[in-house]
Amino acid sequence: MTRLRELEIATRPEHPDLSAALAARWAELPAHVKRPNQMLGRRMTGCEGTHGVFPRCNLACTPCYHAKEAQRVRTDGDHTEREVDRQMALLRELRGPGQHAQLIGGEVTLLGPDDHARALRAMIRHGRKPMSMTHGDFDYDYLEQLALDPVSGKPRFEHLAFAGHFDSTMLGRRGIERVHDEAELNDHRARFCAMFERLEREHGITHYLAHNMTVTPRNIDQIPQLVRDCRRMGFRMLSFQPAAYIGNEARWKDEYRAICTDEVWQRIERGAGARLHHNAEQVGDVRCNRTAHGLSVGDRYATLLDEDDPRDARALADFIVAFGGMDFEAGGRRLRAVRVARAIARHPAVLPSGARWAARLLRRIGGVRALRRERPRAITYVMHAFMDARDVRPAWELMQRGEVSDDPTIRATQERLQACSYAMAHPESGTLVPACAQHAVLDPLENLRLARLLPARDRS
Ligand code: SF4
Repeated sequence: MTRLRELEIATRPEHPDLSAALAARWAELPAHVKRPNQMLGRRMTGCEGTHGVFPRCNLACTPCYHAKEAQRVRTDGDHTEREVDRQMALLRELRGPGQHAQLIGGEVTLLGPDDHARALRAMIRHGRKPMSMTHGDFDYDYLEQLALDPVSGKPRFEHLAFAGHFDSTMLGRRGIERVHDEAELNDHRARFCAMFERLEREHGITHYLAHNMTVTPRNIDQIPQLVRDCRRMGFRMLSFQPAAYIGNEARWKDEYRAICTDEVWQRIERGAGARLHHNAEQVGDVRCNRTAHGLSVGDRYATLLDEDDPRDARALADFIVAFGGMDFEAGGRRLRAVRVARAIARHPAVLPSGARWAARLLRRIGGVRALRRERPRAITYVMHAFMDARDVRPAWELMQRGEVSDDPTIRATQERLQACSYAMAHPESGTLVPACAQHAVLDPLENLRLARLLPARDRS
């Protein structure tokens, strides 16, 4: 009977813990984001990130979202593994399995390759899909040592996901200490992607690469060319973060509020050569996040979902009713096939609406002929707009007391924090904290504590 029950659970499209976590997430979302295209609470419980693990970095960004105390903390593998393990355990408990989690702090490659691998394993152990966040200034030797077991020399991961932060707001990269123009970094971006291609070629370890860019008034007009330059390098996600006044105040250089998120998005679209339909799907609050999934075939970009076409909205709704938060990567092929069959049986309307959507997508791509000419590549454009610390601090303090602000700016900040899609775990209190609140409110004290626990031997 137990075996039967286990089999029944294993073949469900959604693990029951994920079903419960999705329902809880939906219930806690504020009313203004509970729209038909909202992915939180339906498809995912949210993105996750680590904190208080390795806050130190060996490059300098302007701005830097880390408190200045971060540089006083030594990077320590045992501490990192222990903290990652505790944080991921809480995320597994509250957010269910199969969610994307970023191994993020200062610079992840300041961890030795084995320590880095231990941290990733801890994340996988707790059902997370880890992505290492890096400035990308490391060598193939490091990547290979991370990927391979030091004793057997065999792969210790089947797949690695990395996000590389490359932009002209950064100082101190090897071979290009100071960058004046985004294009000057193209060789470094290409080299980063080439390392992962080599790893796949030599060891069969697949990869997913994202490119992160902080956007300021100085580099905003370089976005279109950057998108054109990057989209064939091997990145599958191009993510843009308009600069915010958060973290180390000594690194705030420009009038960041001189640009607005619409202007950033327009430039991304100019580079993509197409309209990017960010209203087709929403992740949390639209003031925080925009996401556009699409396919590239040659220089042609086709949106996965047309936000103006109600038939695409219907197809998305049917997909979610049928599959919910199903993880299409988890389990073996046979298990996935049974899960898909059960999802279709749960909501058979997904088949005709999915088939019609696929036909529309094929037309958008340019038909079968275009497919024969070139294999389509999935590409996702993302914009994530962190909030200013001066708004987050009072908003967060009021929220801790269960109060809603009278001030429209602070109230808007509270709304966004409530709908936050990027959480960090605090096992000591059993709570999850939005990354904005983590960086604006909690990081400075946390880093002071860490500096006492793990004092850096130098301050470089
Ligand atoms: S509240 Fe902050 S961390 Fe959360 S989604 Fe919005 S901008 Fe991102």
